[in-house]
This record gives sequence, C-alpha cells and structure tokens, in this order.
Amino acid sequence: VLRISAVRKHFGQVAALDGVSLDVHEGESVVVIGPSGSGKSTLIRCAHQLETIDGGALYLDGELLGYRRTPRGLRPLSERRIAEQRRRMSMVFQQFNLFPQFTVLRNVTDAAVRVHGRDRSEVDREARELLARIGLAGREDHYPWQLSGGQQQRVAIARAVLVRPRIMLFDEPTSALDPELVDEVLAVLRDLAAAGTTMVVVTHEMAFAREAADRCVFMEAGRIVEEGKPADLFSRPRTERLRAFLSRHL
Ligand code: ATP
Ligand code: MG
Repeated sequence: VLRISAVRKHFGQVAALDGVSLDVHEGESVVVIGPSGSGKSTLIRCAHQLETIDGGALYLDGELLGYRRTPRGLRPLSERRIAEQRRRMSMVFQQFNLFPQFTVLRNVTDAAVRVHGRDRSEVDREARELLARIGLAGREDHYPWQLSGGQQQRVAIARAVLVRPRIMLFDEPTSALDPELVDEVLAVLRDLAAAGTTMVVVTHEMAFAREAADRCVFMEAGRIVEEGKPADLFSRPRTERLRAFLSRHL
C-alpha cells in the first residue's frame, strides 16, 4: 500500500531521515519505536506529505506521491493534486485537533461528507455504529470539551476511520493522555489492527507494539536500525542500540 523508498529529509544540518525504506502491505500494522529525535514523526509526516522530502520517493498503491515523471525529470504536483493524494490517507496526532464548535457526530462525519463527498445519511449511520463500538454511544451530541482526553482521541480516530483511508498514520496517539486513559485508546487501535486496517503507529507503548504490531521498526538517528516481528525484536534484539532502548522502556 505504502512504499517509502530511500527517503531523506534534512532540517539544516540535521538528517532527520537518512535514507529510510519501508514497505507497508495491505492489512499490515507496523509499529515504529525509537528514541526521541530519531525521526519517527518526520517519517510519517513525510509519508502524509506534510513535509517535502530531499531524496528518495514515496508511493501509495504504486502511485508516486508529490511528483510526476516528465521526460525532463520529476515535477512537483500542484497543491490540489497533493491534497487529493493526502485524502487517501488519514493521520491522527498526539493532540486530537477536534473542532470545539462541532458536536461529536459532526466532528466524526464532517470530513467524510464534505471533503470526501460521501452520503450524509450513510456516514451518520456508520458513525453511530462506530462510536458505539468504541464506547462512545450516547455521546453523539456532546461537544469536545465535555469529553475526557481519551474520549476525544477516540473521536479523532473515528473521524479518521470514516474517510475510509487506504492507510492510517498515528503519531504517538496516547502520549498526551493521562495514564489511566491510555488503555481505552490503545484498545481501539488494537481492534483496528485486528480488523485488518493498514496502519503505521509511532508509539512508546511497548506492550502495544508487542501485541498489535505485525511488524515493528526501530529507528535511531534517522535510520531504521532493526525491523521484524515484534516477538523476535523484543526477545532477541540484534543490536546493542535496540537492547539499550528496550532496557529503558520495558
Ligand atoms: P519524539 O519521540 O521526541 O517525537 P521523533 O523520533 O518523532 O522524536 P522527529 O520529530 O522526527 O523525531 O525529529 C527528528 C529530528 O529532526 C530531530 O533532530 C528534530 O530536532 C529534527 N526536526 C524535526 N522537525 C523539525 C523542524 N520542523 N525543524 C527543525 N528540525 C526539526
Ligand atoms: Mg515525534
């Protein structure tokens, strides 16, 4: 679904991504771990075209992202075309970014209806079912400020699901939450992964990585240092760097 091929991204002298390649396959959940500053956020921000890349290439379902090939080389796509490509993915951030003036139902359905042109009544029905499944039945008419952080983040996830993205990207979706609210959000992510959602999750929640990831990727200093099945990675780290990271985080 998503191909990240030798992607480089610099901020001044800092190589935030130093040639990162990663394929995310249909139905796969990939969890990205690594120390602060290792390039995890930059990786998924580049995949979502929130940052331009300095080298390498990105593909969604085989289609080059951000550029088109011409006889004279790559030409950047128009903002409009990039926005179209971006709409085929959805991203969930640490901060839930709900619209304070909209109800829960409106927050969840608005993008699907107005940006993706989906049928209002169908989206409403799907939204109610989804909200019930993630423990938010009866909250449809509440406003974000009436919800806990964990509930707000579940609303943000529901919104991201309702646009039917080809892939979902999560950047530390639980790290802004009080500890007692983390599990309810991770449970939703676990269900999505189990239901075969194609997703990339950046997280410091090692137990989640272990249980929910089909594949786990360890980044450091802008590179992928190790990747594999979480059971292998966690019980038999091959590098000293991953060993040290795990000993700090388990
Ligand atoms: P964390 O776990 O703290 O979220 P991370 O792995 O997500 O870290 P990134 O945010 O991707 O790390 O940052 C990678 C490197 O790029 C860091 O050295 C960071 O300081 C730098 N960087 C990221 N964004 C910018 C920016 N907008 N301007 C300048 N430098 C940046
Ligand atoms: Mg980050």
